[in-house]
Amino acid sequence: MELFDLSGRVAIVTGGNGGIGLGMARGLAAAGARVVIAGRDKAKNEAAARELPGALAVEADVTREESCRALIAAAVEKFGRLDILINNAGINIRKRPEEYSLEEWNTVLATNLSSAFLCSQAAYPAMVNSGGGKIINTGSMMSIFGAAYAVPYAASKGGIVQLTRALATAWAKDNIQVNAVLPGWIDTELTRRAREQVPGLHDRVLARTPAGRWGVPDDHAGIAVFLASRASNFVTGAAIPVDGGFSVQG
Ligand code: NDP
Repeated sequence: MELFDLSGRVAIVTGGNGGIGLGMARGLAAAGARVVIAGRDKAKNEAAARELPGALAVEADVTREESCRALIAAAVEKFGRLDILINNAGINIRKRPEEYSLEEWNTVLATNLSSAFLCSQAAYPAMVNSGGGKIINTGSMMSIFGAAYAVPYAASKGGIVQLTRALATAWAKDNIQVNAVLPGWIDTELTRRAREQVPGLHDRVLARTPAGRWGVPDDHAGIAVFLASRASNFVTGAAIPVDGGFSVQG
């Protein structure tokens, strides 16, 4: 459908080499976009890019400003424009708050929050050149809720929602829409580690999720296409849960 058509559009997905990012990338590619897969692991980037017609794999560490700038430049050099940026790279370090070092705190904040600012800032001139753009930031249920073992993660994901709102207000004049997606509990490498570390997590999530299942990466394909396409041109600054009802369960 023309409303959701991404033919001719160029998209970058950070953390696109697996998990939720790859689920979003698959959606964008199916809607016709040319996708740039970015992550630190070259082999994983290339494997993901091979799955998507015409995709480009770029090694990038989004905690480094020069790497964010080089990523945007590589996309523009290869495809001549940039329309869509998905800031999805993320990590978690699970501990009690009193146990974190400053370095661990900074690593989580740099990967999950500062990276989204740096990549968005680097992407801005290219989006203005394209006549507008779409930025999609990956938040979390911890953008809304607290969690005893995820203090820097929750701070970063709360920050993602406010970054989204602030950029949305700043760049509406440039026809750039900025929105956040808040995934519920999704079966990925990140949560496989969490399930190993936190006994009972798997069943607690199942019990609390009205949809009665864990999410899968491909559950994020549709929201990515919506927020990347003309269909969402009057949607900006929103934070949309994709959580099988987890956040509305009383
Ligand atoms: P994965 O661990 O599968 O994916 C994380 C991705 O981030 C990988 O592609 C990884 O690639 C990339 N990444 C990590 N650090 C960096 C870095 N410094 N520079 C570039 N890329 C980096 O986890 P998910 O798919 O689960 O997570 C994706 C996003 O979704 C994260 O922001 C996470 O917080 C969020 N999320 C996940 C939920 C879930 O239930 N799974 C729930 C809510 C939010 P590489 O290692 O190659 O760099």
